[in-house]
Amino acid sequence: MYIAVASEIASPANRPRDLRDRNLRLVVRLFREKGILSIQEAAAETDLSRTTTAKIIAYLLECGLILPLGKGSSTPDGGKRPEVFCLNASSVCVISAFFTHLGITGVLYDLNCDRLSDLSVKTGISYEENADALAQAVTELQKRSGLSPGQLCGIAVGCSGIVDTGRGVLRYPNRVGWEPGLDIAGDLQSRLNFPAKIYVDNTCRYFGYAEANLSHGRGEGTMATVYSDRFSGGCVITGDKLLRGPGGFVGELGHMVLDADSKAVCACGASGCFEALVSGANVAAYAEEIAGQFPNSPLHDETVWGLQDFFAASNNMDPFAMAVMDKVVGYFAALIRNIILLHDPRRVVIQGAYADGGEYFLLALREAVQNYPFYGIKHSPEITYSQLNFTSDNPDNFALGGAIYAVDNYIGQFVRAKP
Ligand SMILES: [Zn+2]
Repeated sequence: MYIAVASEIASPANRPRDLRDRNLRLVVRLFREKGILSIQEAAAETDLSRTTTAKIIAYLLECGLILPLGKGSSTPDGGKRPEVFCLNASSVCVISAFFTHLGITGVLYDLNCDRLSDLSVKTGISYEENADALAQAVTELQKRSGLSPGQLCGIAVGCSGIVDTGRGVLRYPNRVGWEPGLDIAGDLQSRLNFPAKIYVDNTCRYFGYAEANLSHGRGEGTMATVYSDRFSGGCVITGDKLLRGPGGFVGELGHMVLDADSKAVCACGASGCFEALVSGANVAAYAEEIAGQFPNSPLHDETVWGLQDFFAASNNMDPFAMAVMDKVVGYFAALIRNIILLHDPRRVVIQGAYADGGEYFLLALREAVQNYPFYGIKHSPEITYSQLNFTSDNPDNFALGGAIYAVDNYIGQFVRAKP
């Protein structure tokens, strides 16, 4: 995992308060990743000075966010055994919940963002029924935590559509029958019998937040994620900040129109959106179009083609599958070039179904982005696959980013409280 080094953090542009904020979060993040650390180890991992690290750990102890564990092992050179510490994981809990096509799935985490419990509440299609199910899931998970409501440090709610995260309002839902301007945070709060800190955001942004935290770290300039599965989206993170834009539209990458003449109609109503072009149905339709050119492909043995079939066959160098994947690579490359022109990220992470694309897709995509004919400039961000398995049924994969986001904001309160 990438941990931002002090030299990056201490750029002249940073105000002292911002610096303290980042350093404190950095140390907490390190504890979340490593578990148990001494001051010396924390200082070495973060590149902060031992004095600064010791002060931060003393403050975290005072706040009750970390616990002393006594003496650790002696140092490799036989020095005396240092004091070691860990996060006070069970001091608070966090709930991350998200809307699914069947209802609500919620997951309970501790301060370490380790999953403690999860549940799904099936419900009808109306917003009111879903709002009730959300409150039911949160209430049940809070009970399961065994902690008081005051120890619930935050609730993150992931949804699809355009979100006003400042107010917790789903401005433009993409569910049939749901009206614009749904006050998700307010409607949840009014259904709970305790006050709570509620965060609402687009689920893809939370996916990206988890990626930035767990796989590639933060503080590394700008990173973008591109998610594709039944729907597509993404996010842009600069430093440790999710970019949303004043209207909440930043990151809706699935709806960038990449082929204005395409007949592939997107769920949003437009044609030629990235989401529609890389959908399994559109890819299979393209394969049907060119199948006659490749009569010897083993793919003809299959009656129905899914993305996984094209991934597997292209990685076995089947010319038919390679031609299909080349078409998809063209869409991804065009999207990434557009992202470069808007945000110039250092890294782009492919999430969702295409994260299983394998070597052929990834290498072809890197080459296509690198060789895009933009004045002959050879420039490409690092393009990698997600380290998170979003295509499995594990609810942790969808909820984790929201939990990390809520915990980071909880930690932020201690920074602001520090004189
Ligand atoms: Zn669209």
